[in-house]
Amino acid sequence: MPEQKTYIVEHLDPELGPWSALEYRAIARETAGCNGVFMLSSLPEGFQVPEELKQESAFRAETRGVEDLYPEGKGKERVCLLDPAAEEDLNPDDKRDFDVFLFGGILGDDPPRDRTSELRKKGFTGRRLGPVQMTTDTAVRVTRMVVEEQYTLDMVPYLDHPELKFGEKESTEMPFRYVKGKDGKPIMPEGMVDLIKKDADKSIDDLF
Ligand code: SAM
Repeated sequence: MPEQKTYIVEHLDPELGPWSALEYRAIARETAGCNGVFMLSSLPEGFQVPEELKQESAFRAETRGVEDLYPEGKGKERVCLLDPAAEEDLNPDDKRDFDVFLFGGILGDDPPRDRTSELRKKGFTGRRLGPVQMTTDTAVRVTRMVVEEQYTLDMVPYLDHPELKFGEKESTEMPFRYVKGKDGKPIMPEGMVDLIKKDADKSIDDLF
């Protein structure tokens, strides 16, 4: 059984926007820290991968989809889909049973539209990370904590729906679950708070 785990995000959105680019870079960096591989699968032929992502050592770009990479009888049974609708929660023993952890490459939405069902239909074994929707990088972070560091899901320090304050009056509530960092703040990809602020300013400007 290979000790090195592979974390795959199957690209399901038509494009890779700035939010996803920051999330994927964070996943690539953190996965390198635990000697794993981070793969973005099902990329359209000729897809322009953001330069910052290409430079990350753990990162692999892949045009094949996860079904072609791990067909029935050739590794499919070692793939675990992280699925908010799965009946069983991920637990530290899953480290033994799975080599590949698969996530939907979907931006979080509120209320969630269950686009993970596109991967569920393909018949991979599913595991839930508790009942609250996480951002994709948080879902990968929590999976790594369970699989690599042997946390149980109830040991992970969470922050649900945190409010981000920008200056005196502006704030935005994020409708997701995050891991709480040592500073008590939600762990977010580098650059994400600035991007959220920029997006919030833009929507305020659009009102006028
Ligand atoms: N709104 C979503 C949907 O349509 O399914 C959830 C998207 S979430 C931002 C991206 C991915 O993170 C999901 O496809 C899933 O793999 C993983 N994920 C997020 N929260 C999860 C949870 N509570 N349990 C299991 N997987 C989760």
